[in-house]
Amino acid sequence: MTSDKTPWNPSRTATARVKNALPAPTTCPYCSSDVRIAHHDEIYGRAYGQWPWAYLCEACDAYVGMHPFTNIPLGSLANADLRLARKEAKLPFEKLWRPYTQYRSKEYASLAKHLGIPVEHCHFGWFDVETCRKAEEWALAQLDLRQGEKVVPRRGKPGSQRKLRW
Ligand SMILES: [Zn+2]
Repeated sequence: MTSDKTPWNPSRTATARVKNALPAPTTCPYCSSDVRIAHHDEIYGRAYGQWPWAYLCEACDAYVGMHPFTNIPLGSLANADLRLARKEAKLPFEKLWRPYTQYRSKEYASLAKHLGIPVEHCHFGWFDVETCRKAEEWALAQLDLRQGEKVVPRRGKPGSQRKLRW
């Protein structure tokens, strides 16, 4: 991948690889202001990752990142509350499969089923706050179940059990 790529000159290969691409946002879902492409410098004061670009609503500070080397948004524009909700929901979910990437799609399929949405729509970047909460609760419950499977008898006290911590 060459460094001359920008959201205005995206990689065709990377663009073709993105499944279920959302259209570029033009209007902010919160305040209806215009949305534009911004460099991470403007948002965070520094660049993160290999593709430091985002869609930004300057009026209300809602933003969303892009798939690397494309101008395809990772999801819908998010204000601070939604960004936090997405982060909090994704954390326990990723514990369900990381670092075993072969289980990733299975977990997404289970989450989609739980949420009653098509798996193609099951992206944290697409979720609203309510869906994030549902996803987070589900993932935490899954983690609890798995912890339950690791329950071992406590030595010397038949019947009593001790939960292993992660
Ligand atoms: Zn806005």
